[in-house]
Amino acid sequence: MAGPRLQPEQAAKESLAPPDSRMQLEKPEQVEALKAKLLEQAQEISRLRCELAGTEAEKHRALLAAENERLRQEMKTCEGELLELRRRQQAPCQDCAHLQENAELQERLCQLQREAEETRGKLAELELEVQQKTNRLAEVELRLKDSLAERAEEEERLSRRLRDSQETIASLKSQPQQVKYIIKTVEVESAKAKQALCESQSRTQYLQEQVGMQRQVLKEMEQQLQSSQKTVAQLRAQIVMYEAELERAQGEMLEEMQAMEEEKNQAIEEAFARAQVEMKAVHENLAGVRTNLLTLQPALRTLTHDYNSLKRQVRDFPLLLQEALRSARAEISQAIEEVHSTNRELLRKYRRELQLRKKCHNELVRLKGNIRVFGRVRPITKEDGEGPEAASAVTFDADDDSVLHLLHRGKQVSFELDKVFPPQASQEEVFQEVQALVTSCIDGYNVCIFAYGQTGAGKTYTMEGTAANPGINQRALQLLFSEVRSKAADWDYAISVSAAEIYNESLRDLLGKEPQEKLEIKLCPDGSGQLYVPGLTELRVQSVEDINKVFEFGHLNRATECTNLNEHSSRSHALLIVTVRGLDRSTGLRTTGKLNLVDLAGSERVGRSGAEGSRLREAQHINRSLSALGDVIYALRSRQGHVPFRNSKLTYLLQDSLSGDSKTLMMVQVSPAEKNSSETLCSLKFAERVRSVELGPGSRKAELTSWPSQEHLEGDSAGASAPSSRGHAAPSPGQLSSRSASIRRKLQTSGKLRPVPV
Ligand code: ADP
Ligand code: MG
Repeated sequence: MAGPRLQPEQAAKESLAPPDSRMQLEKPEQVEALKAKLLEQAQEISRLRCELAGTEAEKHRALLAAENERLRQEMKTCEGELLELRRRQQAPCQDCAHLQENAELQERLCQLQREAEETRGKLAELELEVQQKTNRLAEVELRLKDSLAERAEEEERLSRRLRDSQETIASLKSQPQQVKYIIKTVEVESAKAKQALCESQSRTQYLQEQVGMQRQVLKEMEQQLQSSQKTVAQLRAQIVMYEAELERAQGEMLEEMQAMEEEKNQAIEEAFARAQVEMKAVHENLAGVRTNLLTLQPALRTLTHDYNSLKRQVRDFPLLLQEALRSARAEISQAIEEVHSTNRELLRKYRRELQLRKKCHNELVRLKGNIRVFGRVRPITKEDGEGPEAASAVTFDADDDSVLHLLHRGKQVSFELDKVFPPQASQEEVFQEVQALVTSCIDGYNVCIFAYGQTGAGKTYTMEGTAANPGINQRALQLLFSEVRSKAADWDYAISVSAAEIYNESLRDLLGKEPQEKLEIKLCPDGSGQLYVPGLTELRVQSVEDINKVFEFGHLNRATECTNLNEHSSRSHALLIVTVRGLDRSTGLRTTGKLNLVDLAGSERVGRSGAEGSRLREAQHINRSLSALGDVIYALRSRQGHVPFRNSKLTYLLQDSLSGDSKTLMMVQVSPAEKNSSETLCSLKFAERVRSVELGPGSRKAELTSWPSQEHLEGDSAGASAPSSRGHAAPSPGQLSSRSASIRRKLQTSGKLRPVPV
């Protein structure tokens, strides 16, 4: 292409090169040639312009742009399809087992999309490149346009000059004279033209070079375009491949989806069938439930009603509760008040009842007799010796603890007392029987407990006892202490003791500083008729230790007065006088009770002939005082108007404690030894006689009018040939009366009745 284009230019150059040789002849030809060349160049230029205007590059660009547009459209549709596919992919049931595959497909799709994206990027890059190249082409075109414009101008100028020259030549021709000159001018001017032509030729050459260069560039660009077209073709092939892949994936997906759909439909069908079956069952159930409901409806109605009423109740409950609580409180306080008043009333009644009970008890005691007689048989001891002498002459009734039998001179004599304690009876058992008497002294009663019996029969054992096994004295005081303690809430009590001894009708204070001093019994100077012993020591005791000290001191005093304590003690009466003074703090009531615990002298008979001197005197005193005691008890029990208290120191001293509401217990101690049977008989007779004085409202003045002395008892015992006729059963009052009467008769016939002092 460059060859034919350059030929006219070279021809023009050659034609212009040797201007001197052919100047004259060849000028018009030269001009013609120049014209032709110019025409050629113009044609070339227009051809070039044409070429430039419709370059293949532009066409390519346009094609590429169109192709790009198409690809974009395709991409868009692909994306739309992809979205649709995704949507449809997401639409099927979530629980499907093909989700995994779906995910894989999606992943592949993503990959494909990524690849498509990359291709798109590459395409964009290529487009950019094409754009750049287009821009550069446009620049080249502009530059080409400029150079063409310049060339056109030059041509214009040259053609103008050529025309001028031609005109000049013509005019010269017409004017031959002048022609030569003009020719010469023209020759001169053509030289200039030649120069200008040369210039324009060089310029044209330059432009041709430029065009060549542009062509080169264009060629390169074409090559680039070709390579980019190749790339585009590759990309397109890839896209096609991707599309195929996409189509395949889509197909697979569709198949999957179809399968899934089928599965789903099947599952739905199955579920539907199941649901229908279940539905049927449910319907059946429903029918049952409906019938149930129909039957339940009334119940429900009542329940609802109940519930509503309960709700109402619950709502009203706090109020009701409050009301109930209020009323309950009121009731309770009322009840408490009532209980209080009832309590007060009961307390009042109880106190009254207590008084009544006391009265009744006293009455009972009075009816039974204020004087009770117990018998206690000591066990056989070593002192009783061995053999037949030591054999027991006393037997007991297994069914009746108030009866005992004595074998005396081969005959059995039975006695009935208030109670009989056999040898095995313990100190405690004995005390249990007397404790009521002891406590009554707290209530203000005077009490006397005598231990009567021959020496060695157990009087001291019963009253004092041993350190290990104390007797009535210590137990009584202990009981008093505990009773006083239990009443301490209402009462103040003071317990004091005195210890005295009556020996040969002399009263001595065993707790005094001068025990040998003889005390007198005097009437109280206040005119109350009460007796008192001036100088008799009274010690306040509060504990067992205090009592033990008192006893010890008493014994010590007693012992200092005699050479043989045992003998002395058996010849004297030992008295322990306990005074209990009480004060009721609420009422101010004062009470004084006396408990006289008397260990009497031995009741044994002293041989009529054997005794003399002091021994005889002792015996006489003892005899007299014991007889006096018998007399007093008899007088008291038979409610005689006169009680001979003054006949002995003992009865005189105990006057207060023997009279009135006082209570007396005679504990008759006997030895079971056969050798003592005579003394035992005497003691039991004494006991029975004391007891057999029947008392009672209607028989006060009846019965015995006198009391046998110790001597009488002795005589009686000597002639006690007739054993008691009573059997084991408890005697009736009639029986007892008849026995008392027989005793009285016996005593009367023997002429030994002792005159009763009036
Ligand atoms: P009394 O005081 O009458 O002269 P005692 O009390 O001194 O007689 O008793 C004489 C003896 O008999 C004492 O050794 C005493 O311990 C004992 N004795 C008395 N009664 C009992 C008894 N119930 N149980 C055991 N021993 C007794
Ligand atoms: Mg004694």
